[in-house]
Amino acid sequence: WLAFEGAQARVVVDLDAIVRNATTLRARVGDAQLMAVVKGDAYGHGLVPTARAALRGGATWLGVAQLHEATALRDAGIDARVLCWLLAPGSDFETAIRRDIDLGVSSAAMMRDVAIAAEAAGRVARVHLKVDTGMARNGAYGDQWPELVAAAREARERGLVEVVGLFTHFVRSDEPRHPEVAAQIDRFRAAEKDCDDAGFHLEVRHMANSAGAIFVPESRFDLVRVGLALYGLSPAPDLTAPQDLGLDPAMSVTAHVAVTKRVPAGQGVSYGHTYVTDAETTLADIPAGYADGVPRHASNKAPVMVNGTIGHIAGRVCMDQFVVDMGDAAVEPGDEAVLFGRAADGTPGPTAQEWADAADTISYEIVTRMSIRLPRIYC
Ligand code: PLP
Repeated sequence: WLAFEGAQARVVVDLDAIVRNATTLRARVGDAQLMAVVKGDAYGHGLVPTARAALRGGATWLGVAQLHEATALRDAGIDARVLCWLLAPGSDFETAIRRDIDLGVSSAAMMRDVAIAAEAAGRVARVHLKVDTGMARNGAYGDQWPELVAAAREARERGLVEVVGLFTHFVRSDEPRHPEVAAQIDRFRAAEKDCDDAGFHLEVRHMANSAGAIFVPESRFDLVRVGLALYGLSPAPDLTAPQDLGLDPAMSVTAHVAVTKRVPAGQGVSYGHTYVTDAETTLADIPAGYADGVPRHASNKAPVMVNGTIGHIAGRVCMDQFVVDMGDAAVEPGDEAVLFGRAADGTPGPTAQEWADAADTISYEIVTRMSIRLPRIYC
């Protein structure tokens, strides 16, 4: 672990854990290639260092939602295949094509825009058709699907695009036995047949996110798009914990205790006094709040470790700080507080999943929302 001076909270990212997780996931998915999903600043872990670590661990593709994320990877000198899938009308497709980015295309209108951009760029665009097999979100749905295939066929005949991929997204892969999982796979296979009939030579068919890759082997096809598991978190915490999957959480969030005080029973804490001490106790003020990504919904609930002792948030999380009730534990200003992950000496603290449970959300949101106010420290 790198030493970091100062009271400010920080996100510590264990890049070796990402390398190991990628290697573990690659081994698990057989012949399928691994796409590391690094959108959202790599779920808060930092886009470029995380992408490099995932590639070191055996990922061969990178997946992002937005074009600026894809171009940031290219700006950093990363030349691996990159798929960008959340494109809006008016996106700068021409730059994307020039920078060798694969485009996820979900409508005939977008396909025509991509074709125009390919012509302007003087290059053939590589596209992946996105079929909506049940999510009712992004992707071609119902009649939109044959329209998309027809538009792709036309653009291909004009030498402007190559259809290299077909993909879709799961609704409930964290419930692998739910009939919707098999129904989506059937719909995906039907779309694959449409692509064959149109004469497309698909290089990669892909459907599985983390839960699909882990729990639904028949959804792995040629490539799995893995986000959460790469970061060492379980996509189905009710089914399995990260350690059962051989995954190590990569993110730790730590701070240093700013102030401590001994207070009597009956002391209200923080705004609105929603917490009142029931005995004499030690309170520790931690300089991290909702402006740093600490969820206010975790008020009065989430665990925090100081010197190996677990306390709980007392009262409401504020913008820049919150208070932990440490009972009779010996706690001094400057002591390290672990919100989740590991202490500097490696001691495991609370988990991101425990924070998610406390805040009534999912671990995706806990790690992704850690604010840019927190420095990222890599080790
Ligand atoms: N594929 C797509 C299209 C996504 O939007 C996402 C993330 O939401 C993923 C794959 C990765 O999902 P997960 O983090 O569950 O592996």
